[in-house]
Amino acid sequence: MLTDHEPDNPLQAAERDIIALGIAAAAIIMLVGTGGSVLPQAMEAVLGEGGKPNAILVNALLLNIALIIFGWRRYRELTREIAERRRAEERAQMLAATDPLTHCLNRRAMLAATEDLRARAAMRGEAIAYCMVDLDNFKQINDIHGHSSGDAVLVMLCERIRAQLPREARLARLGGDEFAFVMTYPSGHAERIDDLVIRLFESVAEPFRLPEVTIELTMSIGLATDHDTDGTIGVEADAATLMHRADMALYHAKKQGRNRYFWFEASMESELKFRNEIESGIRRGLARREFVPFYEQQVDLQTGALVGFEMLARWRSPQLGLISPDIFVPIAEEIGLINELSEQLIEQALVDACEWHDSLTLSINISPVQLRDPWFAQKLLKKLVAANFPPRRLEIEITESCLHENVGTVRSMMMSLRNQGVQISLDDFGTGYSSLEQLRNLPFDRIKIDRSFVSELKQPTNRSRIVEAIVSLGRGLDLPLTAEGVEDEEILNALKAMGKLKAQGYFYGQPEDANGVRARLKAAGKLSGKRDDAAEPQGSEDGDMLARYRTARP
Ligand code: C2E
Ligand code: CA
Ligand code: CA
Repeated sequence: MLTDHEPDNPLQAAERDIIALGIAAAAIIMLVGTGGSVLPQAMEAVLGEGGKPNAILVNALLLNIALIIFGWRRYRELTREIAERRRAEERAQMLAATDPLTHCLNRRAMLAATEDLRARAAMRGEAIAYCMVDLDNFKQINDIHGHSSGDAVLVMLCERIRAQLPREARLARLGGDEFAFVMTYPSGHAERIDDLVIRLFESVAEPFRLPEVTIELTMSIGLATDHDTDGTIGVEADAATLMHRADMALYHAKKQGRNRYFWFEASMESELKFRNEIESGIRRGLARREFVPFYEQQVDLQTGALVGFEMLARWRSPQLGLISPDIFVPIAEEIGLINELSEQLIEQALVDACEWHDSLTLSINISPVQLRDPWFAQKLLKKLVAANFPPRRLEIEITESCLHENVGTVRSMMMSLRNQGVQISLDDFGTGYSSLEQLRNLPFDRIKIDRSFVSELKQPTNRSRIVEAIVSLGRGLDLPLTAEGVEDEEILNALKAMGKLKAQGYFYGQPEDANGVRARLKAAGKLSGKRDDAAEPQGSEDGDMLARYRTARP
């Protein structure tokens, strides 16, 4: 096998060296022994004073000398070999500790480097700051400009960071587009770190000029220190704790909208804990079907007639109570569960809405994340067929933020759905950045005026220039409008003066669950004729009732 013959096998080399050393030592001893008697004889022979020296002894002497030379050479070889091996080891260690692309430390080495610097800082009575840097949307840069441009940007970024750091600081690439550095500073003077970080932001704001393209970047930063702001050491924090805290501060910076930095604060830890609880709660809740549709009435503003309902998701969590979608929808989007969650809700809502009078519409909210699925429209239409729900009764609400992601996909999705009769509303209008161009070119059926504008109508003047502007825009584009957030009679009256509108809001009642809606519709005689027998809630028999309903339909 290879290892048996490997010249560098340390054991074999050491064995050889011990033998060589033994031979050299024995040779020296023998030289002393034989040299004592042979040398005088030889000298005498040379001077012509004696007989020939003993040939055996002379040979032994020469052999000794040869052995000593051999030993000496072996010794020199050995020292060279050791030096070489040490260099190779150092190189291997360096390679194991550095990132091959940027040549700064890697994740593995950073922990030890931080611990090391912390110990040195502690001896000098200084504080250390651990800083996590993460590029915003770097994946897009890789996707758009290719990985080699992405790599070049990372190398340049690393140089820019290094240029701002003091000599003793250690810089690492933790992976992908994530960097970290650790540095000392005089305790009680954290503002020096703030200054450095601000310089860093300025330096990164400079465009990255590559031969083919110029790339602009932003980054987010999280900071943690082992000292309190007053310069004292609160609870001692080791390297791993500092890294974890900087990570939480970074996460906070990302959540706050990126391109900014935060120092770690204790509240971030509880926030994150809460978030993690919600995250695992969502996974559990999905399996246990804890997500339920609630419904908010939509009314014809002029006549006050009920025209339909908007489905609003609620989470009935056994631990946390009834949770609003503002809390769980963004998290479900982030962890990739929004599709599954929404599908459960839509299926349930279609079952519920089948009981309502045929004239009543059902509106559902669709997240931008869901629209990334090119099969979204097909899947939705399939659900309608399965539930035997007429597409003309369904309305989907998408927000402006859907439009800047991929107008092409959204457009074809809208076309497929509209071809089948599904209506499409632009939700929360005015809060995003949709252009008039998009409004004109995308086939919307309705605009929903965001409740933040509608609530302005509550002011004593009863006027909101924005609502007025949106209403006239809708008229101009021939798009019907819905005003959301109608909370009281004042708002209602102000809106009535603006002409034909749909309205919804707490003035008409809080969103209620399927049973609440069923009771309301029964009282108003607006349950679907064939389903009056379903008027009394019968819990889990809903499914059976639907089956009966389906077979009863033509
Ligand atoms: P949205 O589409 O703007 O829904 C209207 C929100 O305003 C609802 O909050 C509703 O309860 C609230 N609201 C209704 N009338 C009034 C009023 O008179 N005054 C005030 N102050 N608020 C009113 P909710 O149910 O908490 O929903 C929040 C957001 O969550 C929704 O905003 C929608 O964007 C999203 N959402 C709800 N359900 C779903 C869903 O199934 N899927 C997705 N992707 N998003 C959903
Ligand atoms: Ca909505
Ligand atoms: Ca809305």
